Amino acid sequence: MSETKGRNCWVCGSSGLKVDRPSSIKEEIGSRHFAITDSHYGVTGTLLHCPQCGFLQCDDLANVLRFYEALEDHDYTEGREQRILQARRLLEIVRRHVPRGRLVDIGAGSGILVEQANALGYEAEGVEPSRWLCQRAVERGLKVHLGTYPHQDLRPGFDVVTLVDVIEHVPNPVELLRHVASQLSDHGIGLVVTPDVKSIVARLMGPKWWHFRIAHIGYFDRRNLELALDSAGLAPVAVGRPGWYFSLDYLMVRANCYLPRPFRVPVLSFMRRITVPLNLRDSLYVVFKKKPNS
Ligand SMILES: [Zn+2]
Repeated sequence: MSETKGRNCWVCGSSGLKVDRPSSIKEEIGSRHFAITDSHYGVTGTLLHCPQCGFLQCDDLANVLRFYEALEDHDYTEGREQRILQARRLLEIVRRHVPRGRLVDIGAGSGILVEQANALGYEAEGVEPSRWLCQRAVERGLKVHLGTYPHQDLRPGFDVVTLVDVIEHVPNPVELLRHVASQLSDHGIGLVVTPDVKSIVARLMGPKWWHFRIAHIGYFDRRNLELALDSAGLAPVAVGRPGWYFSLDYLMVRANCYLPRPFRVPVLSFMRRITVPLNLRDSLYVVFKKKPNS
């Protein structure tokens, strides 16, 4: 591993980051690479490894906001039913800790979690940088603000802040969490969900792991995720592994990416109607609150 100069770890601030793997990007980057349904698995920019905390980061893709702003993800809305189930499952976790109050979903997409939270009695709003996704949410009458977090239209004092598959997309995770801490009410909780680069599946799949993708510029494990929370004045309350829901056709398309051509399975239209729960235990969730002295 070669040493890099002038770069610091986004989590612990250490210098002396080492190149873990060179960039495998072979085409010009566009918004499509930042779609949640992007299937360029195993393709990343240059990943740097922090010897202190184990965090992996991609400095050469640290400035990608414009791609999110221009993002249109039609496949994402096709997976709506599965995302509704997913949002409900995550909100079940949240409700164990804070059953009501004001909620903000950071990286709200088309507003699915916001809508489900409203249905459960929360007063929910969201923030989303993609103009196209934000517009989908607004069309459904949801309070989703266009832009990034923190957002000028958000009034602090949230009872719940959710960050579902967001923190691996930002070059300033600790700063983002500090803003969360500053906007949480004293009894409020946050929920962060992110892939776990030290999970068994991630280790088995190595560089081909499906969470290695261009849009993911930071890779956490439990230890450095908790370190990032601690640096932001936050403390874990509960840790677990969220399961996901997929349509069978989505899963088959993705599985085919890993299979040699003769073994690929035909994807048939009926598969779209079949929902498959799946927990590969390669994501982490952490419920957190403000540290007492912060
Ligand atoms: Zn570090």
